[in-house]
This record gives sequence, structure tokens and C-alpha cells, in this order.
Amino acid sequence: YSQLTGANANTLVIATEPTFPPFEMAAKTGGELEGFDIDLMRAIGQESGLKVKFESLPFDGIIPALQSGTVDGAISGMTITPERAKTIAFSRPYFKAGLAIAVQENNSNIKSFADLDNQRIAVQISTTGANKVKTIPGAKITTFDNAPLALQELVNGNVDAVVNDAPVTLYAIKTGNLQGIKVVSELLTEEYYGIALPHKSPYIQIINNSLQTLIDQGKYQVIYQKWFAG
Ligand code: GLN
Repeated sequence: YSQLTGANANTLVIATEPTFPPFEMAAKTGGELEGFDIDLMRAIGQESGLKVKFESLPFDGIIPALQSGTVDGAISGMTITPERAKTIAFSRPYFKAGLAIAVQENNSNIKSFADLDNQRIAVQISTTGANKVKTIPGAKITTFDNAPLALQELVNGNVDAVVNDAPVTLYAIKTGNLQGIKVVSELLTEEYYGIALPHKSPYIQIINNSLQTLIDQGKYQVIYQKWFAG
């Protein structure tokens, strides 16, 4: 693996699943992508002198695209897992996240993971959340293409719970995008996001160095504040 897929030798083509606010989403006007991951990846581009071009893909299409080399990397709120690390490489961790259960505001039965037995649960395809719920006894699992669709199913009352990345569910509630739901206080996992790269990518070191520089210079913190303040 030595060649960039971008039109220019200096362009990194970076895949993302663009409905995971506040990490990646379509801007309200203009249709460009925006979000924490988008700002961070652009800053890495600036730091490293590489141009960054985003390519939207379904979440379950990202790892195959990395493996076939049709993209140079991916930033998509993707958790570093041992399973994924068998097929792709990751940058150093850039964000601490974890799974949370969301339920309807008036639900007082589900207070922890153990209460999910025999419940109707919505998850997003190919995610750590989907993996987590697989072994729950008697659960009726419905899988959606993206997190907003799974959460909407909960708002509509068609499922009892959603297992999804806590920062994304909390952001949807905070912004008022979704109403009538709440997050159960118990966090199910501690997870770390990484930028995903093909095995043997020549850019792992450059990306890790740029991330470190952005952290050291306080630029990471500025981006963090922009999307997570308050
Ligand atoms: N962090 C979760 C995972 O990696 C969800 C990512 C996402 O939906 N974009 O599986």
C-alpha cells in the first residue's frame, strides 16, 4: 500500500458516515459536512500539509473501503476494538466515548443493562452498540442504518430502548432534535475513537504526530469546546 487514492498525490480521501452528530453531519446550509471529527480531520490536514477530501459512506461500508483501498482513511466516531484491529489500523485514540442506554422519559423499568432482558431494542448496524446487545436474553433487536433512525424509533415508541454512543444520544437530546427520551445513568462501556486506516498505511505516523501537535498546541481543545461546551 503506497499510493493515495485522491486525484492529487497530496489528497487524503477520508470516509465518514455523515449522520452522527456532533461528530459528523451535513451543515444546515450548503450541504457541506461539519462536526467534531470533520474539524479535527481538517486540522490534521493543515498540520500535515495534506489535503483532505471527505467521502460519505454507510457505516458498514467503511472497513471494506479501507481494506480495498478505495479510501485512504476514515474518521467516523469509530471505536478502536481488537476485532477491527485485525483488519484495519487505527491512529492513537482521539476521543473517549462509551455506550449508553436511551429510553422514553416516562420509562422507570429500565435502569441498567440487566433490565434489557426481553425488551425491544434498536441499534445501528455494525456498531459496538449492535455487538453489545447481541447476547441479551429474549431481546428483540431491530437494526438501523444510522443512529438518528434508531433513536427516532424510540421517540415513536416502537422500541423500549436504544443502545448507542453516549455523546451522540446526549447531543441529540441537548439540541432538542429528539424529544421525550432520556439517557440511563449507567454507562455500559468505555470506548476510544480512532482514525481508521488501511493496514500498512504510510500515513499512520503523520496522523499521530499531527494529533499530538494539535493537543499540545491547544487546538484540539478549541475544537472540543466548539462542539461539547456547556
Ligand atoms: N462508536 C461506535 C462504533 O464504532 C459507533 C460509530 C458510529 O456509529 N459512527 O461502532
